[in-house]
Amino acid sequence: SKITIAIDGYSSTGKSTVARQLAKALDYIYVDSGAMYRAITLFALQNDLIGKEQEGVDKAGLISLLPGIRLEFRKNHETGKADIWLNGENVEQDIRKMEVSSFVSMVSALPEVRKKLVEQQRLLGKDKGVVMDGRDIGTVVFPDAELKLFMTASPKIRATRRYKELLEKGETITYEEVLQNVESRDLADSTRKDSPLIKADDAVEIDNSDMGEKEQFERILNHARN
Ligand code: C5P
Repeated sequence: SKITIAIDGYSSTGKSTVARQLAKALDYIYVDSGAMYRAITLFALQNDLIGKEQEGVDKAGLISLLPGIRLEFRKNHETGKADIWLNGENVEQDIRKMEVSSFVSMVSALPEVRKKLVEQQRLLGKDKGVVMDGRDIGTVVFPDAELKLFMTASPKIRATRRYKELLEKGETITYEEVLQNVESRDLADSTRKDSPLIKADDAVEIDNSDMGEKEQFERILNHARN
C-alpha cells in the first residue's frame, strides 16, 4: 500500500532530484514544498514588501495579504513536471532566481507563512502516495511519514552544483555569492524559532558528497521498498 515519503535536508543536496526519481519509480506524486516558500517570496518582491527601504520584509504587510495568495501545482505537458502557479500565473522559472533565494529564508521564518503552507502541504499529501521535500516535512508536516530521509553534502559541493545550474540559466553570478547564499540559508533555516531544519530522530541520513546519483537512488529505493 502507498506510503508517505518525507525528504528533508540542507539546500542543494539533491533532494528534489531524488524525490522526483522516487515519485516516478513508485508512481507517487512529488511535491516541492520549497517552491511554495519561494512563490510567497516572489509575491513579496512583486508587491514591494521586500527591499532595501524595509531592511528586510514588511511582515505586517505580507501577513495581511496572505489570505489572497493562491498557490497551485499544475502539470507542464512539455516537461512532464509540475509547475507552481501563483495567483493564476506560472512562476516556476521566476522562483529559481537568485533574488528569490536571497530573501526566502526571511519569508519562511514567519510563523503565519509556515502555518498557511503546512496546511496546504498536508492537504496535498492526505491520500498518501506522496514524496515531499523540504526542511520540516518529516518533523512537522508529516511526523508519521513511513519513510524519512535527511540529506546532506559538504557546502562546497552543494554550492558548486547550484552554481552550475544558475550559470546554465544565464544568471550572472560568482561562485562565492552562491556559496555564501547556500551557507547563510542553511544557518537561517537551522536556527529559526519556528520549525527549524533538524533531522527527525527516525530519519535515515544520507551524505551524498561522494556518492553518484545512481548509487544514491538505488540505496534510497531500497529503503522505500523495505
Ligand atoms: O528547497 P529550496 O531550497 O527551494 O527551499 C527554499 C527555502 O524555502 C529554504 O531555504 C527554506 O528557507 C524554505 N523552506 C522551508 N521549509 C520547507 C521548504 C523550504 O522553510 N519545507
